[in-house]
Amino acid sequence: MPLDSPAAPQILPSVCPHDCPSTCALDVERLDAHRIGRIHGSRANTYTTGVVCAKVARYAERVHHPDRLTQPLRRVGDKGVGRSAFAPITWDQALDEVADAMLKAEARLGAETVFPYFYAGTMGLVQRDGIERLRHVKRYSRQFSTICVTLPDTGWIAGAGAKRGVDSREIAKSDLIVVWGGNPVATQVNLMTHISRARKSRGAKLVVVDPYRTATAEQADVHLAPRPGTDGALAAAVIHVLLAEGMADRAYMARYTDWDDELDAHFAGCTPAWAAGLTGVPAADIVAFARLYGGTKRSFLRAGYGFARARNGAANMHAVSCLPAVSGAWQHEGGGALYGQSAIYPLNRTLIEGLDVRDTSVRIFDQSRLGPILCGDRRDLGEGPPVTALLIQNTNPMVVCPESVKVRDGFARNDLFVCVHEQFMTDTAAMADIVLPATAFLEHDDIYTASGHTHLQVARKVIEPLADCRTNHAVICVLAKRLGASHPGFEMSEWEIIDSTLRASGLGDADSLHAARWRDCALPFETAHFLDGFAHADKRFHFKADWAALGDTAGAMPRLPGYCAVMEAADAEHPFRLVAAPARNFLNTTFTETPSSQSREGRPTVLIHPDACKRLGITDGDRVRLGNRRGTVVVHAREFDGLQPEVVVVESIWPNGAFEEGIGINALTSADPGFPSGGAVFHDTAIWVRPA
Ligand code: SF4
Repeated sequence: MPLDSPAAPQILPSVCPHDCPSTCALDVERLDAHRIGRIHGSRANTYTTGVVCAKVARYAERVHHPDRLTQPLRRVGDKGVGRSAFAPITWDQALDEVADAMLKAEARLGAETVFPYFYAGTMGLVQRDGIERLRHVKRYSRQFSTICVTLPDTGWIAGAGAKRGVDSREIAKSDLIVVWGGNPVATQVNLMTHISRARKSRGAKLVVVDPYRTATAEQADVHLAPRPGTDGALAAAVIHVLLAEGMADRAYMARYTDWDDELDAHFAGCTPAWAAGLTGVPAADIVAFARLYGGTKRSFLRAGYGFARARNGAANMHAVSCLPAVSGAWQHEGGGALYGQSAIYPLNRTLIEGLDVRDTSVRIFDQSRLGPILCGDRRDLGEGPPVTALLIQNTNPMVVCPESVKVRDGFARNDLFVCVHEQFMTDTAAMADIVLPATAFLEHDDIYTASGHTHLQVARKVIEPLADCRTNHAVICVLAKRLGASHPGFEMSEWEIIDSTLRASGLGDADSLHAARWRDCALPFETAHFLDGFAHADKRFHFKADWAALGDTAGAMPRLPGYCAVMEAADAEHPFRLVAAPARNFLNTTFTETPSSQSREGRPTVLIHPDACKRLGITDGDRVRLGNRRGTVVVHAREFDGLQPEVVVVESIWPNGAFEEGIGINALTSADPGFPSGGAVFHDTAIWVRPA
């Protein structure tokens, strides 16, 4: 449907698709059929409340960037060089070559040699997940999507039973907000809006638990900075104080949880002094925080992702999620906890993802282990064939995947065919044989759920696709034809799929939802607070997690909540623990191409405690090399006293080429799966630091 050129800017609705819990409702200034002005948060949406982050407010800079890919390209030079190594071809030529390579690979080694690879970069459900339909019809190797939420999901579900919690808007009624393992000033600005309102209107206190003094921690009343991977010990010591000082709600625990005498005995040993030794947080600070938490009925725990991205991350999340089940905060308006709301959306995804044709006997790969997979690690390949064809949409694994030296070596294989459908010439696209230009979210239709709030939203395109760009859905459909794959979803438009999905879910139709802009799927108070029972068969919160039911490597998990020692601990050779935190002006690797984000971030920088700088003979601005057995990178040092002396932080994710030496921060991170069911361990990294 062509869009008319209006005489004056219009404001059109849209939804932010970026990989962020806020999934903001947007009001977009449309200047004409091809250009936008500023983007604003919708004031009508009670979660977005008129606020978006600065990087999306200036989105015109990204969607109209001169470096956007505009036509299909065939690589004619070396891998990894970039745009100059590619020559334009037509869409028909490109699609024929991609289909031919995939069919030949399949004929040679079987369907499992083809690995469609995707994630949550810049798209909603139809554009992001349609690649699954092609995978399942063709019986290509399946993907276990572990790179973001597997570990925190597992830890949360172990206790509460389902990934849902208290509505963020209830923060308006909170007297204490605990942001544990997140930096919403940088990564979820709307949460800060709600927190700021509670602080102004009712004097609510803000506590931040994070290994370094983030921009959010700077605004907090209290900041606790545990060593990475020790959050479970901190939570257990807080519970110890709640029990010892009579602040545990015994009546609530008896009615709603599996509490028993064994847990009393267990937590009696988790003293603040014990936890101080593990976490580095002074025992007095632990006691003070416990008294503040236990003494505030309306305490809202907002659990983030960061502290769970470790081998012991699920155990940490579970231990932290125990706090409101001891204090009884779940019972009170403005009290309880939220990690994510994914389970509240009653969306039937069969058509979008082709679940009706999925065969669970087909090989499945852990997406975080792409490096080992491409390097032929038999732990991943099993008895199956090597991966010889990759079709990639909506992610940039050359930069975001752990063990990026192996990822690069894998992509460098001459027997590997790679097609990347992208918006920019990313590090991954530069390794491709064929690059296809993709639309941005403002140029296509899609449907969106949110992790941080409760609105189901749809959006139609605001402007026409740039040049020859095609949607992810369109590319999957035309490829399916060439590959001999048939499914009703390949014959439908995006809007028809959205409409059918909503109808199959009992949620009305697409046009009605579009007219309303969103549907608030918030659960009733009793359910959101688990007062009608937690989401286990016995309706109780589980302090005693059934890890064996959640994963294959449960043997490493603690039987009772607390400290779990499985991590890449610092040692004499690797005395520092690295946190690879998100940078404020990037979002994964998105926005690394926009000049305003680049200039605000400066250059890859490591935050090092002044004591460590002194010991190493490093001063502000020096080049330093970070390394371990997986790789090394060179960055610049910044003295920073907002962390413990044995912890360093590199805010990223910078493109690999931004590093003066080395191939990106993920050269240092491990592709080991977390316990008990996998998940990327980005913040569980021991390194050495030396002057470069
Ligand atoms: S806060 Fe998150 S969802 Fe909102 S505009 Fe920014 S990136 Fe998008």
